[in-house]
Amino acid sequence: MRVETPFYAVDLQIETPGKHRHMKILVADDSRISQTIISAILKKWGYDPVLAAEGHTALDILRGPEAPKIAILDWNMPGMDGVEVCRRLRELSTSDPPYIIMVTSRGEKKDIVSGLEAGANDYIIKPFDNAELLARIKVGHRMTELQSELNKAKDALAYEAHHDPLTSALNRRAILTALERELSRARRESSILAIGLFDIDHFKRINDTFGHQVGDDVLRGLVKLLGNNLRDYDYLGRYGGEEFLIITPGQKSAPKDSGLYGRLCQLVASNKVESKAGTLSVTVSIGVATGARESTVNTIIEAADSALYKAKNDGRNRVAYAD
Ligand code: GH3
Ligand code: MG
Ligand code: MG
Repeated sequence: MRVETPFYAVDLQIETPGKHRHMKILVADDSRISQTIISAILKKWGYDPVLAAEGHTALDILRGPEAPKIAILDWNMPGMDGVEVCRRLRELSTSDPPYIIMVTSRGEKKDIVSGLEAGANDYIIKPFDNAELLARIKVGHRMTELQSELNKAKDALAYEAHHDPLTSALNRRAILTALERELSRARRESSILAIGLFDIDHFKRINDTFGHQVGDDVLRGLVKLLGNNLRDYDYLGRYGGEEFLIITPGQKSAPKDSGLYGRLCQLVASNKVESKAGTLSVTVSIGVATGARESTVNTIIEAADSALYKAKNDGRNRVAYAD
């Protein structure tokens, strides 16, 4: 698995000014003086302060594009206070929430509890010591780094769960799930859905002649070629060994009339694929089926499979259509 473990210490190297200048920190405070003081020390530590004088602006900035990952929010602000900003932020479902440090002059326990309950990660009581603020920012920085590592690991796992490791096409389960979803969409929207089951012709010969690794190159090359020639909303999946399934939703006409799959068949035949043994020519046979109101994943695949069988029997390097 290519996922790296997210547990490592983030060294901020605060002694080196400018080291993390790209790291934005939101400072929301209605007091000009507080704003100026906090942003001056942040700058001194090499951070890039983003200022807001009241809660609504702070919320907009934190919900906006390229939002700061750390926010220092004043508890008391006119309009919307820091606690309310926290509460609104936590209502959003995001995998990448900002780390919030509340700044309050009220040291009372119940206030602190309500701030933390609203979703603040930490708090600091005014007047505060600079070293303490920095220490708390460093904790926030480390947390946001961990969060983003975790998100990357999650994305990588999700990718691996849905893709074939050799070719990066969708795997069998993912392409069948997509087919299920697209069939019900086609039914709902009364649109034309076509699928093509592709099987490489005499693929065994390639393996036998050049070896399995060259066979793998051909599989990868074919996926790349087909992938480059599909629309954004088409799907390409590895159905089995050297069989691929393409789903083309939203067709304007029956696939036999549009000639789409004929062009893809032609495309494969007329392009060479790169391999360790040099460039090779391959052809594919394609069985095409069109979704009908009563189609299920099983019936449409079965129809495409029978058509594929016919294409093979008729001489390969061709498309056959299910009736
Ligand atoms: P046909 O034209 O009838 O489809 O002939 P074919 O040789 O392509 O079909 P056959 O089913 O006899 O052989 C398919 C071959 O695909 C056999 C199998 O070893 C090979 N194959 C399946 N998966 C992989 C893979 O991941 N890598 C490689 N290199 N070969 C694979
Ligand atoms: Mg086969
Ligand atoms: Mg084959």
